[in-house]
Amino acid sequence: MKTSIIGYPRIGSLRELKFASEKYFKCEISAEDLQKTAKKLRLENLDVQRKSGINLIPSNDFSFYDGMLDTAVMLNALPERYVDLRLPELDTYFAAARGYQGEKGDVKALAMKKWFNTNYHYMVPELCDDTDMKLSGSKPFDLFFEAQQHGVKTKPVIIGAYTFLKLSHFTGIKKAEDFAEKIAAAYGELLSGFAAKNAEWIQLDEPCLVMDMDELDKKLFVGLYEKILSSKGNLKVIVQTYFGDVRNCYCDICTLPFDGVGLDFVEGKKTLELVQQNGFPKDKVLFAGVVNGKNIWRNNYAKTVDIISKIAQSCGEIVLNTSCSLLHVPYTLENETKLTEDVKKHFAFAKEKLGELEELKKIISSVEPKNAPEYKANTALMKDSRGRENAAVRSRVNALSDKDYTRLPEFSQREKIQKKRFALPLFPTTTIGSFPQTAEVRKVRSDYKKGTISEEQYDEFMKNKIKDCIELQEKIGLDVLVHGEFERNDMVEYFGECLDGYIFTEKAWVQSYGTRCVKPPIIWGDISRTKPMTVKWSVFAQSCTEKPVKGMLTGPVTILNWSFPREDISLCESALQIALAIRDEVLDLEANGISIIQVDEAALREKLPLRRSDWKSDYLDWAIPAFRLVHSGVKPGTQIHTHMCYSEFADIITDIDNMDADVITFEARRSDLTILDVLKANDFRTEAGPGVYDIHSPRVPSKDEIKTDLRKMLNRISVEKLWVNPDCGLKTRGEAETVLSLENLVGAAKELRDENK
Ligand code: GLN
Ligand code: ZN
Repeated sequence: MKTSIIGYPRIGSLRELKFASEKYFKCEISAEDLQKTAKKLRLENLDVQRKSGINLIPSNDFSFYDGMLDTAVMLNALPERYVDLRLPELDTYFAAARGYQGEKGDVKALAMKKWFNTNYHYMVPELCDDTDMKLSGSKPFDLFFEAQQHGVKTKPVIIGAYTFLKLSHFTGIKKAEDFAEKIAAAYGELLSGFAAKNAEWIQLDEPCLVMDMDELDKKLFVGLYEKILSSKGNLKVIVQTYFGDVRNCYCDICTLPFDGVGLDFVEGKKTLELVQQNGFPKDKVLFAGVVNGKNIWRNNYAKTVDIISKIAQSCGEIVLNTSCSLLHVPYTLENETKLTEDVKKHFAFAKEKLGELEELKKIISSVEPKNAPEYKANTALMKDSRGRENAAVRSRVNALSDKDYTRLPEFSQREKIQKKRFALPLFPTTTIGSFPQTAEVRKVRSDYKKGTISEEQYDEFMKNKIKDCIELQEKIGLDVLVHGEFERNDMVEYFGECLDGYIFTEKAWVQSYGTRCVKPPIIWGDISRTKPMTVKWSVFAQSCTEKPVKGMLTGPVTILNWSFPREDISLCESALQIALAIRDEVLDLEANGISIIQVDEAALREKLPLRRSDWKSDYLDWAIPAFRLVHSGVKPGTQIHTHMCYSEFADIITDIDNMDADVITFEARRSDLTILDVLKANDFRTEAGPGVYDIHSPRVPSKDEIKTDLRKMLNRISVEKLWVNPDCGLKTRGEAETVLSLENLVGAAKELRDENK
């Protein structure tokens, strides 16, 4: 039995590539220096995998920015505007990734989108009618050669033609089908190139095969591969899928002359069933994705051995594989100095997952797998309680009933009560929560964490910041104020640190896009709130003004989605535990005189399942109730706000209304207001504040342009329901531009009021 991995993280175990790239962007090091760092990291990765005994080691999983962008370069499909800059090759590439502003011109970057249901973002290739698709870049060959020089014969990894086309953006009249012939020829050439170089295997990543596919999609996929595979010669080709199961095209995959098929047994709900019911061609190798490439927990060997024994009957050779690229987990536990061994033994980051594959190989190849010492040790580990249970939390969750998810009285009655209570003007103005975070604020937070300043000093500083922030908002003339969130580093980490049941790492970074990484906290055990988390700051802020100040919390779904979740209980159960903790905070805020409370669900849309048919049962059916649980206990007069970052929620608009908040604010400035039509068409009842100030840009919107936008909105939203606010938090903005923008925003609302008297 052999082992393989789909890909390895590339940013460096201590983010070396990030730091080198950023230095290169600032012209502090040369292109050669950057290339040297990159090569060193690639060779280190090869060594780690070779030492672990992995049989099929990938190459070309490295990227300076993103694999989709690399594939566009390989296919001669970079838009002209980047090529026309006439920059050196590497700089052309970075221009497409990050945009370019300099003496050679001014061009925006390619669009960026989330990579399936991960927190990784890819660059969206742009294909126009003139794109002359052909094999042009040599990176896959170069890296294969580099590894060979280093003594490793690798399995080159390239994004497949079907996925490339499905994820591309077409700017002209040509569509995916119109590029099929050319792209197939390019991939054909790629295969014959590797055959000529005596490569044994090549892996073509086709994650789009786990999405819903219609007949046209299937035709495109089959047509592409009939052509591509005719050029493979002696080269063996793996079609690698991940992030789900291939229920729409399993039979096509089995029929096409692939030599290997990579299936995901971790996230693919139906993968096992597909193999068992349809069988698997004996002349193909099944790459069984059994080690989770997305989460950080140790593999459960008993479960894995069981899966392998079940499929062994239906197929020929099996190779043990990860479920997806290890890009989505941190490098190694070796960098974690603060976690105890007792904790660490439950985790496997990328490097440790290599070890798991090797142990599994040994176990499965032995005569009596269950007697293998590694198997026994793992079984014992899985039984370890790790002190994660909290009986009180469990019984609270178990005792929940329908009424806990229902806020009374119903929306329209509350709306009346609240209109009376707050007596806000028409088109009330507010912000999303955070105010600009200066270097000073960050320093004080970190000094406090390090212990170099006392709690009194810290509180004093924060209170001054809050007081100034309130004064500023009053001066600008906003109606519903915020405290500014100066005490928060991050909207999830802050709450994680206040809650019981979370664990934090030091160096467990995961690439989010380009040189940006995130360090998600880990949900270790049952979650509970041991003390109020935000009450002190909110109460102080409210004491500084007569106007209402919003309490500001992060919602359970967002906290869960931006953490590494548990695998021993369901996502639903974790979400409910977090929801109860946030609910306690909501009630505490209310009891302490806070009359408006915002519960952010920035990431609610993000983890919607890839297949539409799974949306309700696998996600919305617990995510929406978890949010409702947070606020169902408040009094009728307490106003609940929520906020979402992406307005791409047209298809779940009724579910959003069902969250039963009183007000929702969301990003709209950049999405040409189409979301407003959706609100209207669906008779959206929640009051709404579509953002009128794009906080992702330093640009100050003028009063007139805000007013124009608001007027357009009024065609689709009734006068009583429209709020006026920015797109998102102001944390990343400069102070001066923020003040000007907010003044214009308030000015626009005031003028609109006069018009609508
Ligand atoms: N309240 C948060 C802020 O204003 C919301 C951030 C977000 O939606 N990402 O920063
Ligand atoms: Zn936001």
